[in-house]
Amino acid sequence: MIVVMSPSATKKNIDNVIKKLESLHLRTHLSEGEDRTIVGVIGDKKIIANLEMEMMAGVEKTVRITEKYKLVSRDFHPLDTVIDVDGVKIGGDELVVMAGPCSVESYEQLHAAAEAVKNAGAKILRGGAYKPRTSPYDFQGLGEEGLKLLRQVADEFGMKVVTEIVDREDIELVEKYADILQVGARNMQNFQMLKALGKSSKPIMLKRGLSATISEWLNAAEYIMVGGNENVIFCERGIRTYETYTRNTLDLSAVAAIKELSHLPIIVDPSHGTGRRSMIAPMSKAGIAAGADGLMIEVHPHPEVALSDGNQSLTPEDFKILMSNLNEIAKAVGKKI
Ligand code: PEP
Ligand code: MN
Repeated sequence: MIVVMSPSATKKNIDNVIKKLESLHLRTHLSEGEDRTIVGVIGDKKIIANLEMEMMAGVEKTVRITEKYKLVSRDFHPLDTVIDVDGVKIGGDELVVMAGPCSVESYEQLHAAAEAVKNAGAKILRGGAYKPRTSPYDFQGLGEEGLKLLRQVADEFGMKVVTEIVDREDIELVEKYADILQVGARNMQNFQMLKALGKSSKPIMLKRGLSATISEWLNAAEYIMVGGNENVIFCERGIRTYETYTRNTLDLSAVAAIKELSHLPIIVDPSHGTGRRSMIAPMSKAGIAAGADGLMIEVHPHPEVALSDGNQSLTPEDFKILMSNLNEIAKAVGKKI
């Protein structure tokens, strides 16, 4: 439920509403907009059903939220959330680009990728140290060694690190090295891990599951938020459809849907979304035009010898050209890059 305060409500009125709700062991979530304040309420459904908040001074009305997800909902929090990753903002009017190799392979490979993407304007270095591969015979990642390389190289270039976590047991370790923890498509509904990430102090980038509906995705984010971690970033990376020309079908309508339904930022990953190098540039532009808050793009200094996802990795040269072409699109939707 949300309690909508009237525009003339005083701070005391708002405090009294919160006090009353908390005295009933309900959890409140304050959202102060330009002209009115909204108090989101979660907790025991029976208690909420019997509340009579309209009687209290300063309350305009209460609205029931019928969806299961509450904290991620725009009804609870009408204004866009901007996540601050140590000075790098995700959300708002500045687009953020996360780029780097699919897998961390070596210092030389990561260094060359980071240098290229940083010089082209990316602020966040991506790279997998734990790789969820379809075949057990494929490269599984360097593990902690990969995390160390990510931190070292990102620090050399003044970048932030985003990297995937595939096991709840690794959370503490990955937190030591990364600035943003990525939940991959295959783990979007790993509820035990989502619950554990709700206790993390690091922002979480939650990729959309291979065949997850938008509602399932929003509920997965709710798992993280209800645990106390409010810094969740969505990432649309394509879903499985009957189409086989592309690796996945990049669902850009999900960007518009998430913007309608949630206040959280959303990033588009055209690399996994298409699986084809030639399609990264057009779908990056389309993602930004659709309202995404940024992009995640795989870049490898030598895609032809990449240990994973070479077919969808841009060369440093192609990435540089793409970044310079994104300016015009960003401007057209009132954003900077
Ligand atoms: C990745 O980002 O390298 C990755 C494995 O992504 P996804 O979980 O979207 O397949
Ligand atoms: Mn990949």
